[in-house]
Amino acid sequence: MADEVRNVIIIGSGPAGYTAGLYSARALLEPLMFAGYMSGGQLMLTSDIENFPGYPEGIGGPEMMIQLREQAEKFGLEVQDKNVERVDFSTKPFRIWVEGEEFRSKSVIICTGAESIWLGAEGEEEQKGRGISTCATCDGAFFREQEVLVIGGGDSAMEEATFLTRFASKVTLLHRRDVFRASKVMYERALNNPKIEIRTFRTVKSWLSDESGLSGAILEDPRDGSTEEISCTGAFIAIGHKPITNFLDGQVQTDDSGYILAKIHTMTSVDGVFAAGDVVDTRYRQAITAAGMGCQAAIDAEKWLEEQH
Ligand SMILES: Cc1cc2nc3c(=O)[nH]c(=O)nc-3n(C[C@H](O)[C@H](O)[C@H](O)COP(=O)(O)OP(=O)(O)OC[C@H]3O[C@@H](n4cnc5c(N)ncnc54)[C@H](O)[C@@H]3O)c2cc1C
Repeated sequence: MADEVRNVIIIGSGPAGYTAGLYSARALLEPLMFAGYMSGGQLMLTSDIENFPGYPEGIGGPEMMIQLREQAEKFGLEVQDKNVERVDFSTKPFRIWVEGEEFRSKSVIICTGAESIWLGAEGEEEQKGRGISTCATCDGAFFREQEVLVIGGGDSAMEEATFLTRFASKVTLLHRRDVFRASKVMYERALNNPKIEIRTFRTVKSWLSDESGLSGAILEDPRDGSTEEISCTGAFIAIGHKPITNFLDGQVQTDDSGYILAKIHTMTSVDGVFAAGDVVDTRYRQAITAAGMGCQAAIDAEKWLEEQH
């Protein structure tokens, strides 16, 4: 066990984590970050970011995350590329176990994000963040006048399909059943859009690609296993997100899906434990909103620590 009690430990190294790190380092709190299994977060999976202010030519995801880390480290953020295994928030200082070692801290900022749920179809890994995305707001504009697929049957799938018609020449929405979880109004909006074709009883068996990227997919009818080929240059998987909160073991209040609930500003149900970014965000899920919340959480943590004296 480290003897030292830190002022603030930040869990997670996406835009929320690094921004929280930057602010708390500049507030001289000497923060420690555990970057986790995916150092740099979800943007490490994407090639071009055109909607983060300050980059008129756009920037690669990994490149931007390296810059965020460098900036925060320059002001004193200490980063360890390790995963937090479990926490104990029932005692103060809080206790955190990282790859067998115990750390203690007066405050904690949780920035562990929410994983997109992927299909796991053959050929998907190679096209992730290129031809295949889980975020139409982020990547829709890369598919102007192209044919794209949307996979899913809930409100997000309908919303993504409708949004994509601004750019794409055709959007084919695939759903594995003929019953939709989406609300009637969202479903009908998609159904009545002339650019959207809805095809039921279709799953993606495998993705096809050529030298220029994604070129199509082999679809399967789950009722009889019959297959067909469809061409597309982009695909958006909209089957949900999973917030990464398992390691908290129910010690912080969450909603039914596992998203952390805020009590006051960014403070969670545990005094002194804050949360920021996609792990609390069921609506926006953008790098800039995650970074904004990381800033808020660092300021909230700093004020809370000040009040403890
Ligand atoms: C393919 C793709 C493309 C995208 N494109 C864009 C875009 O163009 N523009 C945009 O604004 N947004 C984009 N997004 C969304 C954006 O990536 C997220 O909104 C943003 O990364 C959320 O930031 P975050 O800091 O909340 O969490 P994340 O970036 O998800 O980071 C979570 C961090 O938590 C860490 N972690 C998890 N568990 C543990 C643990 N137990 N211990 C320690 N650390 C842990 C992980 O290692 C990771 O570092 C895209 C997302 C995807 C998937």
